[in-house]
Amino acid sequence: MSEERDQQQACHYCGPTDRELRPYGPGGSNICHPCMKATPERERAAKGAFGALLDANAEIGDGIVVIGGQKGPQPYNPERPRT
Ligand SMILES: [Zn+2]
Repeated sequence: MSEERDQQQACHYCGPTDRELRPYGPGGSNICHPCMKATPERERAAKGAFGALLDANAEIGDGIVVIGGQKGPQPYNPERPRT
């Protein structure tokens, strides 16, 4: 059957998509990977946004940052139960 689609997501450049989005677009907007790689300028901007998020989250997360989620780098939360 169909996959869950309770939240419609849209890429800043190509619109509604099932691709994974990352908040590395203009002004923190969500963009998909192919769009991020579409031009060197976008890729550079995305890397800049990633680095900025990484630094900001490292401050919050006491130097530990969780990477890999759809929202980009997140501060490590020691209070979150780990199973
Ligand atoms: Zn896109």
